Amino acid sequence: MVEFATEGIVLDKEDVGDYDAKVFLYTRDFGKIQGKVKSLRKITSKLAGHLEPLNMVSVRLISRNINFSNFQIVDALKTGQLPSTTGRMTALRLIKEIAPEGNMDLALWDLLVGGELSAAKVLSLLGFDPTFASCQQCGDKKQLNFLIKNLNYFCAPCLSVASISEKVFVLK
Ligand SMILES: [Zn+2]
Repeated sequence: MVEFATEGIVLDKEDVGDYDAKVFLYTRDFGKIQGKVKSLRKITSKLAGHLEPLNMVSVRLISRNINFSNFQIVDALKTGQLPSTTGRMTALRLIKEIAPEGNMDLALWDLLVGGELSAAKVLSLLGFDPTFASCQQCGDKKQLNFLIKNLNYFCAPCLSVASISEKVFVLK
């Protein structure tokens, strides 16, 4: 077992089984990672209040080897909290979905901890700059959505024609 300590922002949390959870973090040292937390959803869990989305945390992780999607989070301490806004929540979900695991991006980290976080800025940093984007289907530049599954832009009319209902991020 290898042990690591780092700081991160909680991006999201998903239930696993009856009591466990999977927590998605953007960390200072490893970029995006995910870690299992045993018994997080038990009422006696000491870590529960610390591992909520938008929290800044100091975490202790263990792993059999360095596998960025297979850490176990054994300790977590909330050190701060990002203000909760719809734009920020959308940006966190977007990072969870499309940022590469185990790839530290200092610009993304700086944006997370201190910047005006928005979906458009995250897309731009990750190589999908919306400024000059156009619909992959028809080339239109209006009413653009970013489709996670395709990692590309589609306009609203083309999305509705294709009856696409997967996760999209509407850019305003
Ligand atoms: Zn289109």
